[in-house]
Amino acid sequence: MDATTNTEYDLIIVGAGPAGLTAALYAGRSMLRTLVLEAGMPGGELLKTEIIEDYPGFEHIDGWDLAQRFEAHARKFGAAFRTGVTVTAIRKGRDGIFDVETDDGERVRAPTVIVTSGGTPVRLGVPGEVEYAGKGVSYCAICDGAFFKGHTIAVVGGGDAAVEESDFLTRYADKVYLIHRRGELRASKILQQRLFSNPKIEVIWDSVATEIQGDAQGLVHNLRLQNLKSLEQRDLAVTGVFIFIGFRPNTGIVEAHVDHDDMGYLLTDANMETSLAGLFAAGDVRAQLTRQVTTAAGDGTTAAIAAEKYLSARRSTPPGLEPEIIATGGYAV
Ligand code: NAP
Repeated sequence: MDATTNTEYDLIIVGAGPAGLTAALYAGRSMLRTLVLEAGMPGGELLKTEIIEDYPGFEHIDGWDLAQRFEAHARKFGAAFRTGVTVTAIRKGRDGIFDVETDDGERVRAPTVIVTSGGTPVRLGVPGEVEYAGKGVSYCAICDGAFFKGHTIAVVGGGDAAVEESDFLTRYADKVYLIHRRGELRASKILQQRLFSNPKIEVIWDSVATEIQGDAQGLVHNLRLQNLKSLEQRDLAVTGVFIFIGFRPNTGIVEAHVDHDDMGYLLTDANMETSLAGLFAAGDVRAQLTRQVTTAAGDGTTAAIAAEKYLSARRSTPPGLEPEIIATGGYAV
């Protein structure tokens, strides 16, 4: 227990994906008493990625393997872990200490928190989607596109992500079907222009995916569609189905107002600090240009070092000077 803060930990990290595990590693090296809370197993999105080919130093590594290396490295420097617990609320008290509540009824307190809770791609909810995830079904073109060299694949969605990623995927695939539920794309005109001038892409309008089917090897080989106007069914022989129908950051647990963009991603300064002093955000949950393992690790590094500096400054600040925190009851995204 630290006499200056009256807390067992200096830092609580919410989420153990690449951002959280890197933050834990750096916090440990700074001798911060660190607790990592994770709902599932450490690794985050890495656990859903079969092969990683864009993490420097590893030309080709299993996502699962990289996750284990990240975790072991963080543990080596002393971070404590609690897995299988979901954080239900993060609140900052008038004493400047954060109260982090978990679904098992426990509460832990620390003067700094790094939110690395990531985001969740919106799921289609059709049969085969879960079964063939990582076996042809993907939510990340940069991660998985290279596995479809010379293949015929489908992309579902009609927004910027679906249109941009369809174009990107033609670097690898011979043919990309873009499946959209309406007769007009939501994506920006410039992206549409690029899409329509790409001879490898064919748009299938007014249609929804109703089932993803696999072959005897357990890999995707067919996408069943339904035309919403004619109600006709159609089968597309594809080996990959990329789903881009939206992505939601997991930020609903922060119970005070924290600045965020229109889509709910947390806004931070260059030190990964949010608009709430002592609360940092790193990785996919943060508003930024791209969401990669490399950027998540970089964010985690910065956030941990910034948290250490925040704690040092706090120790030399007289108590009672914390800004008043007005809880707004959080916001849903
Ligand atoms: P989005 O703009 O919300 O578009 C989602 C698309 O998926 C829409 O076309 C929607 O159809 C469709 N959709 C939603 N639910 C569906 C379902 N159950 N079945 C079939 N289709 C479904 O999402 P996003 O494309 O991921 O983009 C999110 C945000 O990121 C946007 O603000 C976007 O501008 C931004 N972004 C920008 C860029 C860029 O500028 N380069 C790239 C990526 C993302 P409807 O159109 O019929 O609603």
